[in-house]
Amino acid sequence: MYRINAKRLVKTFTDMAKISSPSWKEGEILDYILAAVRLPGVTARKVSCGISHNLLITLKGAPGKRPVLFSAHMDTVTPCEKVRPVVSSTRITSDGTTILGSDDKAAIAMFIESIRHISETRVPHGPVEFLISCAEEVGLRGMKEFDTSLLKAKHAFVFDSDGPVGKIILRAPYHSTMTLTVTGRAAHAGMEPERGINAINVLADIITRLPCGRIDHETTANVGTISGGRATNIVAEQAACVLEVRSLDRRKMLSTESLIRDAARKTATQWGARCSIRRALEYSGFSIGKDDRIARIASEAMARVGIRPSFEVSGGGSDTNILNRAGISAINLSAGMRNVHSTKEYIMLRDLVNGTKVVLSIIETMR
Ligand SMILES: [Zn+2]
Repeated sequence: MYRINAKRLVKTFTDMAKISSPSWKEGEILDYILAAVRLPGVTARKVSCGISHNLLITLKGAPGKRPVLFSAHMDTVTPCEKVRPVVSSTRITSDGTTILGSDDKAAIAMFIESIRHISETRVPHGPVEFLISCAEEVGLRGMKEFDTSLLKAKHAFVFDSDGPVGKIILRAPYHSTMTLTVTGRAAHAGMEPERGINAINVLADIITRLPCGRIDHETTANVGTISGGRATNIVAEQAACVLEVRSLDRRKMLSTESLIRDAARKTATQWGARCSIRRALEYSGFSIGKDDRIARIASEAMARVGIRPSFEVSGGGSDTNILNRAGISAINLSAGMRNVHSTKEYIMLRDLVNGTKVVLSIIETMR
């Protein structure tokens, strides 16, 4: 039902893939997107976010339809310098030395092609907003700092999941981080080790007692980094580790955190050391029902263009978590990207086309 200009879509994607855009250095890709959407009826504004910007694009649209928001992020993980996209008859890869950046430029290419398609063919639509965030890959920073009162839409479709187009993420976890800092007592390691309390040993003992890995079907924990000590001839006075806890269930995240707190404090005390704990909530989880309006619109829009929706749960966070927290009903949809965050990343051409159809279909389905 939509005749997608696949050649132009692929060119938009590969143009953007070639632009290096690590987190906080999105200036060049932002200018590319701004130039691409300079069309009648389209307004775009940069919204400052620290040393970078988020980008809000708006199509005015006819009254009577609910406003809808689409979102994707423009930063990528590394290595993302001098990406050379290789286009075959079915897929696009990098040359194997870098990521491709389909996470999440595939979504942005779909948005740009949808905007062009609308301006050429006059697809009937209400108010449409596209929010392109910066610094997503470094803790959702762009979206966290975006003032959502600038948005009209109360329903949002974030295209930032991997796999073939059709996947709908209904649930994503709560996520907290904890820093455990053990303070022991320094002493000369050769002359008077008895006087010392080795913080590295204490921390090692603590870590062996912590819940780790998959805790249950909706909860995980992981010690990610560890540091400490000054030299081999000093009994280490300090050691620290940073860990994370995730759960689809907020209470389980909190109870896992208290297990960790108790184990850390108790073990440190047994050694005569101290353990201080800093905790931060990185983002809140969300849970959307299959029958919620936002999920119904997504699956109906997919069915209209011949794509079978599949409902899934994610173990990762995205800008979707932040939007839901801000009171905007948001779900995460797959944008076709595969093997993301690796030099084996690729995207199928048909997913680029299908994703564009889904964007257009959601815009028409919105009511
Ligand atoms: Zn992403």
